[in-house]
Amino acid sequence: MQLLEERIRRDGVVRDGDVLKVDSFLNHQMDVVFFSELAKEFERLYHDCGVNKILTIEASGIGIACITAQTFGCPLVFAKKNKTLNIAGDVWTSKVHSYTHRRVYDIIVSKDFLGPNDRVLVIDDFLANGAALTGLIELVEQSGATLVGCGICIEKAFQPGGDMLRSKGIRVESLARVKSMSVENGIAFC
Ligand code: 5GP
Repeated sequence: MQLLEERIRRDGVVRDGDVLKVDSFLNHQMDVVFFSELAKEFERLYHDCGVNKILTIEASGIGIACITAQTFGCPLVFAKKNKTLNIAGDVWTSKVHSYTHRRVYDIIVSKDFLGPNDRVLVIDDFLANGAALTGLIELVEQSGATLVGCGICIEKAFQPGGDMLRSKGIRVESLARVKSMSVENGIAFC
């Protein structure tokens, strides 16, 4: 999506360790008017799929997922990163290795909010190694819901997550795909 690529070129900052900072519009300050353009694109891609629930993971996915849910006219559920060891039986749960925080989280969603009648679009801000999406997809599978696909703002296509998920037959739509990036040479898109 050209609009997003232009925004990343203008405002994105490449950090060592293959991290792209987009704090000025996506991850810290949120340009919600811009988000509605991204959400319209997700809606164009998935409009005929009967989506009735958006799923994301806290915290940085919530903003774009919220605006996307508004565009689809359906609820958003976000998986919580569980901090306690005792997990009650009324939740779906899986594990996620956080790329940015370099630790493993248990993630949970209440069984009240995800179940067999749901057709789920998973939304997230970034796709890197695919751990976050894999954990979310596990929750969808446990719940008996139908996974319609995934909508990603920025896929770092030089990392393996996108290929890994697509090779399993999962539909992954990314609005911007970064082919390469470095502090010295900047960002190139696929
Ligand atoms: P994955 O689980 O696919 O390895 O990483 C996805 C998650 O890590 C996203 O939810 C996002 O929050 C975070 N993430 C991965 N790479 C980046 C990055 O380059 N920049 C930022 N800001 N977040 C990232």
